[in-house]
Amino acid sequence: MYDLIIVGGGPAGLTATMYALRKRLNVLLVSKDLGGQANYHMAIPSVEEQPAALGIDMVDSFKAELERQGFAYQIAAVKQVCRHCDGFAVHTEEGAVLLAAAVIIASGVQHQRLNVPGEEKYLMRGLSYSAVSYAHLFGGRTAVIIGDGKLALRSAAEMALVADHVHLVGPVGRVFDSPLGNKLRSAENVTTLEGYQVVEVSGDDYARSVVVKAPDGGISRVKADGFFIEMVLIPNSQIVADLVDLEPKGHIQIDERNRTNVPGVFAAGDVSDTYVERVLVAMGGGAKAALSAYAYLLPSL
Ligand SMILES: Cc1cc2nc3c(=O)[nH]c(=O)nc-3n(C[C@H](O)[C@H](O)[C@H](O)COP(=O)(O)OP(=O)(O)OC[C@H]3O[C@@H](n4cnc5c(N)ncnc54)[C@H](O)[C@@H]3O)c2cc1C
Repeated sequence: MYDLIIVGGGPAGLTATMYALRKRLNVLLVSKDLGGQANYHMAIPSVEEQPAALGIDMVDSFKAELERQGFAYQIAAVKQVCRHCDGFAVHTEEGAVLLAAAVIIASGVQHQRLNVPGEEKYLMRGLSYSAVSYAHLFGGRTAVIIGDGKLALRSAAEMALVADHVHLVGPVGRVFDSPLGNKLRSAENVTTLEGYQVVEVSGDDYARSVVVKAPDGGISRVKADGFFIEMVLIPNSQIVADLVDLEPKGHIQIDERNRTNVPGVFAAGDVSDTYVERVLVAMGGGAKAALSAYAYLLPSL
């Protein structure tokens, strides 16, 4: 039986693991991969970005540290987490049952796909998620934001502060009933293609245009330097849906110490009810969750 099992090896889970190791907890990290979304980095034509730190650098240094400490992690998909005696049982898709006194859920979110021709080919080559992470690179450039909800509106608004022009493809009617919506509708550098659907992504080495279908069925093409899918994010919280309280959109409810409503279950990063989806915010959440778990476990250590 472990003291602590951490589900998810993205920024939140890796940070939680490092903190738990430092506290000398008997900890196991179970994840489908190491790095999570921090492994993604979109290439944009003619842009040589040299950020101070890339997510992948953080992942690599954490991986090296885990290996240096001889720490065993399991690459596996977790199917469900449930109560077991005084602790918890983590069931993997392969049928393993791992027991722990406490668990941290750091399983992130899923991005919705467009499911159109060209999407797979150009993903991370001009087509990506998280427009707000790249907006600073779009001075003098044109961007397409694809989505029909608040996330798309916010992404378009942030992008429009920097980019020459933004095409917002998808949103309809009431989504615009907000100060942000009004601002976008009247912005000179924003074209709103209301109710339009992307039916194809095309380009050369990079995505260069999307083919869109109007509500009346008319087909046209929109060219840009970058394309961003900004549809509702789906939290990977199904594994604890029967165990802890979730927000209406599926995020795990946590308090300011990353505790869920169930003592011994903690959550961190994008899967939790966090303010924004960012690497550093997820890492901070992971650190807090690990320290909260440690405080919870301390009387029995
Ligand atoms: C294209 C792109 C670019 C981005 N750029 C930036 C940027 O420049 N700056 C920035 O701050 N943020 C950026 N972000 C956002 C940032 O990557 C995320 O906010 C951050 O990775 C969230 O960390 P996390 O640990 O909560 O979740 P994730 O990174 O999503 O990690 C979740 C982990 O859980 C694992 N997992 C999921 N389900 C299961 C399961 N059932 N069983 C086992 N393991 C599971 C996954 O394999 C993964 O390892 C970007 C995101 C994207 C998509």
